[in-house]
This record gives sequence, C-alpha cells and structure tokens, in this order.
Amino acid sequence: MSQKQTLSFQAEVAQLLHLVTHSLYSNKEIFLRELVSNASDACDKLRFEALNDTSLYEDAPNLEVRVSFDKEARTLTIADNGIGLSQQEAIDNLGTIAKSGTREFMNRLSGDQKADAQLIGQFGVGFYSGFIVADRITVESRRAGLKPEEGVRWVSGGAGDFEVESITRPQRGTSVTLHLRDDALDYLSTWKLKSIIGRYSDHISLPILMRKEEWKEGKDGQPGEHVLSEEWETVNQATALWARAKKDITPEQYKEFYKSVSHDHEDPLAWSHNRVEGSTEYTQLLYIPAHAPFDLWNREKAAGVKLYVKRVFIMDDAEALLPSYLRFVKGVVDSADLPLNVSRELLQESRDVKAIREGNTRRVLSMLEDLAKAEKEEGASEEDKAKYAAFYTEFGAVLKEGLGEDFANRERLAKLLRFASTASDTASVSLADYKARMKEGQEAIYYVTGDTQAAAANSPQLEIFRKKGLEVLFMTDRVDEWALNYLEEFDGTPLQSVAKGQVDLGKLQDEAEKKAAEEAAETFKPVLARLKEALKDKAQDVRVTTRLVDSPACLVVTEGGVSLQLARLLKQAGQKAPDTKPVLEVNAGHPLVQKLESSPNFHDLAHILFDQALLAEGGLPEDPAAYVKRVNALLA
Ligand code: ADP
Repeated sequence: MSQKQTLSFQAEVAQLLHLVTHSLYSNKEIFLRELVSNASDACDKLRFEALNDTSLYEDAPNLEVRVSFDKEARTLTIADNGIGLSQQEAIDNLGTIAKSGTREFMNRLSGDQKADAQLIGQFGVGFYSGFIVADRITVESRRAGLKPEEGVRWVSGGAGDFEVESITRPQRGTSVTLHLRDDALDYLSTWKLKSIIGRYSDHISLPILMRKEEWKEGKDGQPGEHVLSEEWETVNQATALWARAKKDITPEQYKEFYKSVSHDHEDPLAWSHNRVEGSTEYTQLLYIPAHAPFDLWNREKAAGVKLYVKRVFIMDDAEALLPSYLRFVKGVVDSADLPLNVSRELLQESRDVKAIREGNTRRVLSMLEDLAKAEKEEGASEEDKAKYAAFYTEFGAVLKEGLGEDFANRERLAKLLRFASTASDTASVSLADYKARMKEGQEAIYYVTGDTQAAAANSPQLEIFRKKGLEVLFMTDRVDEWALNYLEEFDGTPLQSVAKGQVDLGKLQDEAEKKAAEEAAETFKPVLARLKEALKDKAQDVRVTTRLVDSPACLVVTEGGVSLQLARLLKQAGQKAPDTKPVLEVNAGHPLVQKLESSPNFHDLAHILFDQALLAEGGLPEDPAAYVKRVNALLA
C-alpha cells in the first residue's frame, strides 16, 4: 500500500460510534482509561511475543506509555512502544468489531440514552471512546519486527469511513492523537490529565510518563506561567495493583481496577484479594460483577480471568482458571510457578493450574456465602443485605449449572440456591429455609417445574399440597430440571417433583383419606378401563389420584422420567426428546369425571379431559382443531 486508501467502517462500527458519542457524553473522561488500557495491552502483547523472540524489543526494552498534548494544535497523544499494528491489522482492528455477539448487542440498545450507556459500558467501547472528545483521530503505528517503511497512518473523523496510508516510522508501537472538540479543550492540562490517570490508571503496571511542568517567572512585570519541560516523569504508581499489599489499596482503587479489567463501568458487587501460599503459589484478585454481561449465556465464552506469570501478562480469558459455571467472575491470577511460555493446551494439563482453579472456585463460593450471610445478619447495612438477592437475580441460573459440573462443591452450591415457592413470590427461599418450615411427618422437599412462575403456581398437581399447607418450590429456570437431576437430596431430605410418579404423602395422609381413595379407585375401575382404551394412543396409563382437589385431571410422568415441560424445551431446541407418553390421573370426586360413566359422548369427553390436562400444564393438544370441535359439540 503506497497510496492513501479510503475505507468504510463495518456497519456495526458506524452505529457504535454514533452511540458512543451520543450516550457516553456524561462520562467523557473514560476515553483516557480506555486508550491507556489499550496501550498497556499492546505492551503486554509485545512482552509475551518477545518471550520467544527477544529481537522484537529492538533497541527499546523499557515498555512505557507517554501521554502528551499540544495546546496550539489542540491535540492529545497517547503513545506506547508495544506490539504496534501492521497496515492490515490497523484496517481490521480499527475498522471492525471482532467481538462475537455484536449484532445481538446492537439489537438490545433501546435508544434510551441512560440504559444504552450502561449496556455500552458492559460491551467495552475501547478505542472508539476517543471520539467522545475528538472529532478526528490519527493513529500512527508500526508493528514490532516490521521494517520502518512498513508503518501505517490511520485517520478518521468517526463518521462512515477512515483513511489509511503507509508511512515510515522508525520507532515501533502506536501513537493515538486526538484532535479535540471545542468542548473538550480542558484536557489540554497537565493537572487534569494527571488526576484522571491517577483515578483510572494508577494500577497499570507500566510507567505512564508525562512531561514535567515548570514554573517560569514572567519577565518585565509579566505574570509567570507553567511551561512544559523536555523532561518526562512517571505519573502513576506503575506497580501491578494485585502485587501491592492489601492494606495499601483503597476500595476506590479496587473498583477502578475492576472497571479496567472488566470494561464494566459499574462498581462490582464484591471482590477478594489473596496471596495463596502452599505447594502452588499465586495471587488471586477476583470480582463479582453487579450485572450480567450481554453474552452470559454463551457457554463458549471463557471466564473473564486474566493470567499473569510473575507480573507478565500471559493471556485473557483463561478458562482453565475457573469452571464454566463461574464464567461471570472477573479478575486476575498471577502465578509464580507456571512457565512464562505456557500455552492454553498446557494450562489444561498443568497440576498447578488445577490447584489454582480449585482455589479460585472455593474463593468465589466463599465470597457468595459471605454475601448470603449478610442477607440475614443483624446490623448489616440495607445495601449489604440486598447484595445476595441482586447477585442471584443476575447469575443464579448460571450458578445452578455448577450442580451438574462441580460434584466436589455440590453441597456448598445447594446451600446457595434460592427459589420462589407457594410461600414466597420472590426467589428468596433457600433449601434450608424450606426444611426449617417442613410439616411434621413431611418426608420430601417438594417442587414443581413450569415455564413461568405463574404456570408453576397454577399447576393442578399442587392442589393437594396447597390443601394440606405443604410448601412447594417453583422451578422456572430453563436449567432447573437438568440441574435438579444432580441434586437428589439436600441435607438428608430427598427432593421430589410433585408431577412425577404417584403422590405419596405418606404420614401426612390420614387413614380415612387413604380408605376413601382406595374405595373410589375400586368403584371407578370399569370407567378407568374404558378411559385407558379410549386414550391408548395418548396416555401410557390412566389412574385415580388423590393429588387433585379442584381439577378433574392432570398429567404426570413416571418417576425418573423427563417432565413434559423439559421434553418441550428439548424439542424447541431441536434436540431429541424421549417420546414417552404421560400418565393421566383423574380426580374421581370431580363432577365432570363422575359424569363420564353415563355419558353418551364418552370418547369425546375422555379426549377433552386429556387435552385440558395438557393445556393446564402449558402444553398444546396434538390436534387443536379436533379439541375445539369436541368442546363446541358439548357446548352446543
Ligand atoms: P478491545 O481492546 O476491547 O479489543 P478496542 O476497540 O479498544 O477493543 O481495540 C480494537 C483493537 O485494536 C484491539 O484489540 C487491538 O488489536 C487494536 N489496538 C487498539 N489500540 C492499540 C494499541 N495502542 N496498540 C496496538 N493495537 C491496538
């Protein structure tokens, strides 16, 4: 490429740019954090590549970021001597967004500035945030290892396109020059820039340099002024935050560090910072975000933990450091034991990594246990009391995946679960709460699954439990049934679906009730036989039940079978669902059922009974038109 080329931004970039400049306006100064963070990442990448090829350092082995400004030209420049960009990389990395889920993310933006600003914060605007304060950005760069003539200049006004051309650039790395907008000229100030760097970028482990300012006396009665000297000084602490002693780090600094590792712009819910000693030595600084990211449900997405080895950045998103069900956790792990050239493959096999992963998992669980404890603690602030519920709303469903994934911690996880129930509209009932409220003689923890809380609450299968005042938990997350498979019991008490198998309320049923049920079943036998025959294509069996009070019939599956609801979910997801037929249970005391025996329309009534039971638990009759016809015939 010798001539200047004009290229268009990817459509999403243009859209994002528009949003960035319009919604992040109230928090302009974050642009500096983003650009310094990119510069620091670029230095980390160079250090990592140079592990295998020290010639990449050329003649400048000290990695650093320089922030400077030019009052006359109204420009602010952030320069690094990191890995740099080749021409093609400048085109690709600064003209497109590589993140997966970008389109989906864009669709979620509502046009409401405040809400969008939050979402954009989670997405991480990075480089493009420069356009909040600049109406033109010039990037000059050369990749480490390429010839000086292979440098690149990239210029854009942040509208639809950008220009690229080759330049000669002796020094490696990148400089980003912002041509400031008229309302952003206050950034042309050493004091202001230093204070922003102090707030957002103090923890960056590289030195951030600025020109020293000197006081020049005015001559001949003129006032004196600050002038920039030729000398550079370091304006941040330049030690990795996690490597400092806990007592020297303020909560504000922890929060700012979180924002820079996570690209979130909200404070985290909790964090934990520890130096772990023993056979494997490492430092962990782990955060629990306050809100779920837009791509939480992407299980391919790796955990948000960065791996460092002796302060050298090794990789982002090191999934080997946390199990998938804790993928919402952000932070840093710095190991003293791993080799610097560790690869992703090696990570999977390393015993040290296994120990770190277990240590991280235990740490996150104990952070969650602390949040949960604060919920009920006397003297805890309202804010602290609300934290676990806030966490659970955002991440509870992901946490449940751990029941199937992490057998070693299953019991600890079970204690962290919360559900809505017949006794609570909000998902706040723990299994321990439930057990504490169990009735004398109750032998199981009962639950019902449903697509929604309303559907679960209205299940006919619940009727007898309501009548007897037995609490039933609602399982309404998609993962619930799968996850519950792995949790057969809690603290010695089995979990039992109210829609599976026969109801056996055991000691809770009195002799009279049992006897009445047996008699009803006996006299009902001939009708049952006819029902079975009429419904033989739909129902595996038909039987009399004691679980219904107001409804004529309901469907259940056999013990250990897949619920009808899960079978529907599997089908929707295009997966194979077992084709087992449900059992129809009828309430022999219900007028509609009693009418059956003498009805001239026995066959139609039987089918209506079955289809209604299907409707009641959220399904659809196999042949809706036939169902409507039968009901209409009866109505007429
Ligand atoms: P992110 O950093 O989240 O990937 P950005 O929009 O901030 O997104 O940056 C896009 C890409 O541009 C980066 O991934 C990186 O490849 C490249 N980039 C940005 N700034 C620099 C820099 N100072 N040096 C080298 N590459 C950079």
